[in-house]
Amino acid sequence: MKINIAIDGFSSCGKSTLAKLLAKKLEYNYIDTGAMYRSVTVYLVNQGLIKDGKVNKQDIINALDEIHITFKFNKSKNQSDTFLNGVNIENEIRSPKISSLVSGISKFKEVRQKLITLQQKLGEDKGIVMDGRDIGTFVLPKAEVKFFVTADLEIRTQRRYDELIANGYSESFEKVKENLLERDYNDTSRDENPLTQAEDAILLDNTNLTIEELVDMATKIVENTLQK
Ligand code: C5P
Repeated sequence: MKINIAIDGFSSCGKSTLAKLLAKKLEYNYIDTGAMYRSVTVYLVNQGLIKDGKVNKQDIINALDEIHITFKFNKSKNQSDTFLNGVNIENEIRSPKISSLVSGISKFKEVRQKLITLQQKLGEDKGIVMDGRDIGTFVLPKAEVKFFVTADLEIRTQRRYDELIANGYSESFEKVKENLLERDYNDTSRDENPLTQAEDAILLDNTNLTIEELVDMATKIVENTLQK
């Protein structure tokens, strides 16, 4: 039997690392919903539709039909790359610029409707580990296992900072922290599908855990569910 696993949490709290490793261990598909919101943002930036951080709602609605997001497994990186209209934008979507704009785009109902429909389709056949902000609450409310991942802000900032530097971006520690706080605020306070812990989600605080410990903990919970 295959199940769906929903992983939600704040920005850079370790949820995508957990999701990827868990998917690998279980031989499930990993779906990164943040990459989808980032892809829509890249499209709007490339079309010159975001000016001084602001965007016209009708422009977004018109653009949505032109946006096709796909994922292709990259063997050398052992993970999926994100494609926007056939172009690999995996590195671009992680840039500080896109990080600073994405929560201003993900708040629009029309954007969410399009992406949530896509995400729910991907979840239909089960065997999915999906991470995001609203997976356990709105996208896959019937997911058999739900995790809500948290970690200390300092730790989250350090991880995001290290990731950016490793990918060739230069950004100060303070700027990275500011972006995380801003996104946390935007993501929890928006009207549409705000980030909250689902009532039946299991809280995993990984501030003092190694990634191996976190994955072990989550795997045991999944195994218990599979045995029921
Ligand atoms: O997970 P990641 O940090 O890549 O997500 C980028 C942004 O996409 C979040 O800050 C949030 O605004 C948006 N997002 C969302 N709902 C999701 C996943 C991401 O609103 N399910």
